[in-house]
Amino acid sequence: MTVDAQNAASPETWLWFEQALLDTGWAQSVRIGLRNGLIDVILTGVVAEPGDQIHVTGVPGLSNLHSHAFQRGMAGLAEVRGPSRDSFWTWRETMYRFVDRLRPDEVAAIAAMAFAEMLEGGFTRVAEFHYLHHDLDGRPYDNVGEMAEAIAAAAAETGIALTLLPVFYAHSAFGGAAPAEPQRRFINGLDGFHSLMQASERAISILPDAIIGVAPHSLRAVTREELSVVCGMTCGPVHIHIAEQVREVDDCLVWSGARPVDLLFDTVEVDRRWCLVHATHMSASETRRLANSGAVAGLCPMTEANLGDGIFPAAAYLAAGGVWGVGSDSNVLIDAAQELRMLEYSQRLAERSRNVMAGPAGGSTGGALFRAALAGGARAAGVSAGLVVGEVADIVALAGDGGAAEASVGDPCLDRWIFAARDRPVEAVWRRGGQVVRNGRHVAHAETTRRFARVLAMILDLGNS
Ligand code: ZN
Repeated sequence: MTVDAQNAASPETWLWFEQALLDTGWAQSVRIGLRNGLIDVILTGVVAEPGDQIHVTGVPGLSNLHSHAFQRGMAGLAEVRGPSRDSFWTWRETMYRFVDRLRPDEVAAIAAMAFAEMLEGGFTRVAEFHYLHHDLDGRPYDNVGEMAEAIAAAAAETGIALTLLPVFYAHSAFGGAAPAEPQRRFINGLDGFHSLMQASERAISILPDAIIGVAPHSLRAVTREELSVVCGMTCGPVHIHIAEQVREVDDCLVWSGARPVDLLFDTVEVDRRWCLVHATHMSASETRRLANSGAVAGLCPMTEANLGDGIFPAAAYLAAGGVWGVGSDSNVLIDAAQELRMLEYSQRLAERSRNVMAGPAGGSTGGALFRAALAGGARAAGVSAGLVVGEVADIVALAGDGGAAEASVGDPCLDRWIFAARDRPVEAVWRRGGQVVRNGRHVAHAETTRRFARVLAMILDLGNS
């Protein structure tokens, strides 16, 4: 059957899958023709032709809705117990010390490693929440977009699609408190930030389908007046860290009399452009408010677990029809399936129940997780997604698991990928029609890893001197 063969003139590349998750649902024996970076034609129920690249299962690439790429460099470096009770806030001290050593070339090398791993883990776009802007002494670089260019260079090199979210960060605490010294590389006034937005737009112009949005860092880092101005600087996505920590909620209550999510909704119009990152600690009414807004809850389950943040109220949020997606945030590990697994498992532990994130009875949990993360991730990144003619050809091939083919038709293969996969289940990835992952590895994996190791050794050496 031809889904759309009117452009079947001559695709540059043909892929053939035993099964593929199309916009319309699962289809068997699927040929997908790619041309000019787009899905040109989809044929179902057909045999492979000579020259086709043959794979088992094809699914659309996911958007990683929240990343701080440079933090990939400190993965595993903050797992030593300090003198007092460790928390997000002690982790942040480690992060500040690491940040003090990073220059643009090093950020580009670390970001390339993170982005290559994202592609290997099933993410084809990243929403980069980019807050490391200035030189070591806190002064803007002569080219204020220097660091944005480093991020764009890493995206260009690895092939990942980029939604760049320059971060406006001005204060250290609620009420417009002066920034702290370790935050000097993040800080801007509104005028400086306007220039930074323009420079960031220039930085991403080297990429074929990059998008720019904006990220007021958090309610503690921007005043209400600044928040309104910053949100008006773009019509792209708006992301904010919110209600990640109990202390943050308490501080917000003391200062404003309101909880953070309520305060945000009372200050600006929150709609589908918005992604509220974490939103871990919400009251029942805040949960309904967020769900009803069309904004995306940006969940980062592995980082939230690593930092001991808490558990998102997913059951109530889903019951209210809320939209969500996942992000790799601190990049302590990078893998779409592992994020989704951690999300579901944290809910199981909290609810003492199973299949919490599944839909109605009989529905696959993996299928529900994947579809929700695909739609929510795309909305948060400011794009559409899905295997459909005319859409950008961002496609992930999952390997078969040898012998259990019967049980892997349709959604059960997503259950296996998310809950039970071993040995690099993401076999191949095409980004804008070009193959960027082959046999489970990014095509530049070896070179990217070598450069990353060299840069990290140099930075950590510096820290010891
Ligand atoms: Zn974050």
